[in-house]
Amino acid sequence: MKRYHSLQEIREDIDAGKTSCVELTRYYLSNIKKKSSLNAFLEVYEQEALAKAEEIDKKIAAGKAGRLAGMVVGLKDVLCHKDHRLQASSKILDGFKSKFNATAVQRLIDEDAIIIGRQNCDEFAMGSSNENSAFGPVLNDVDNSRVPGGSSGGSAAAVQADLCLASLGSDTGGSVRQPAAFCGIIGLKPTYSRISRYGLIAYASSFDCIGIITRSIEDAALLLEVVAGRDDYDSTVSSREVPEYTKMLKTSKKYKIGYLRESVESKGVSDEIKKHTLKALELLKKQGHIVEPVQFKLLDYILPTYYILTTAEASSNLSRYDGVRYGYRAEGATDMVSLYKKTRSQGFGKEVKKRIMLGTFVLSAGYYDAYYTKAQKVRRLIKEETDRILSQYDFFITPTTTTVAFKIGEHEGDPLSMYLADLFTVQANLCGLPAISIPNGCDSNGLPIGIQLMTKSFAEQELLAFSKYMLELQTN
Ligand code: GLN
Repeated sequence: MKRYHSLQEIREDIDAGKTSCVELTRYYLSNIKKKSSLNAFLEVYEQEALAKAEEIDKKIAAGKAGRLAGMVVGLKDVLCHKDHRLQASSKILDGFKSKFNATAVQRLIDEDAIIIGRQNCDEFAMGSSNENSAFGPVLNDVDNSRVPGGSSGGSAAAVQADLCLASLGSDTGGSVRQPAAFCGIIGLKPTYSRISRYGLIAYASSFDCIGIITRSIEDAALLLEVVAGRDDYDSTVSSREVPEYTKMLKTSKKYKIGYLRESVESKGVSDEIKKHTLKALELLKKQGHIVEPVQFKLLDYILPTYYILTTAEASSNLSRYDGVRYGYRAEGATDMVSLYKKTRSQGFGKEVKKRIMLGTFVLSAGYYDAYYTKAQKVRRLIKEETDRILSQYDFFITPTTTTVAFKIGEHEGDPLSMYLADLFTVQANLCGLPAISIPNGCDSNGLPIGIQLMTKSFAEQELLAFSKYMLELQTN
């Protein structure tokens, strides 16, 4: 079967009688088996997906199918899916089953998407390589000795290796964009509050966003259109109307684009990534867009601020895993405190424990003002400075990452160097802004490179249209 890039291609073939949902689902299921060594899926819903595909084929024949009919989707293991297991790739949620659907998942189902399985990720979405999963690392399909990125590594590798057409992941600091860049596909993080967080396992609530991983801009637009918008179960979600993104993907405007000067000058960014970024910027200039370097004075504060605030929020969010309410419970406890201690010591992995401890520290009475309050203030400054840039430019461009996909184990002894992988992506989360990573060629070893575009709150339609335009420029 041919490799489809968008739902539209699939629908054309279904309508022409060349394929069916059942055939497609079988195709993805066989790919999942063939590529099981990638470790992208924690669970595959074989029978269920096939039964659903059969049902949707009938709906299509009757002219009653939803907008996602024909789309086979995977879910990162942080999204509630009713009567299915959910464990954020952590031992602490062993045996836990969700009693309800996340709003985004419910909306996929309502529009007849076929959910094929639950995808591996970094434990509680903490990581940039998918090496922090209790179920082992995920491999990059381009080079199996390398990581797919993280934390939505399974979700990205699955789309990269054609194990499903699209995935829903989560992006707290880059977890959808960074793996998309490492895998040569598209990763969209919308504006904070654009998509309901109901049913998304919380990591750092003021940063968390459901994100979308696809092979085409059209599918990203369609999925956003389906899952975004008002939700009675999440009081923080925006009640703004959801535009028809899929109908606004054309643009012929001339834009003003700022790019981060440091990202093409700094020693910390690989030469090949700099070269590809500059080439993309040059191409835009040639088309008559205004392209200018921008200095972001607070760059050095981005990562510390992110890691202080997210660990603080995580330490609070993860206090609910106590051995009483969900999943795993340690044996041999003698009283309540020992039950908590044993369960949490045995249930959480190393990275998660480290972050809970860091978060507890920055929130502790003696250090609260020095770290937490200070970081909140710096977050505000970063937001103001970013908004100022975006009041002058339509898009702010950086490479998505400083390097291409690194080797498994490469950053093991040096966690700080791993945190640097997020240098360009966390800004959008600190500021609640929409950002996307799109493919920008490959390095000399064939490893994918991503380019990131960020824009103003709720300007997803321009972001998607301009991304499509940039991808078309690359191929023309
Ligand atoms: N790598 C970042 C972290 O570990 C981002 C994670 C995410 O976006 N979920 O916090």
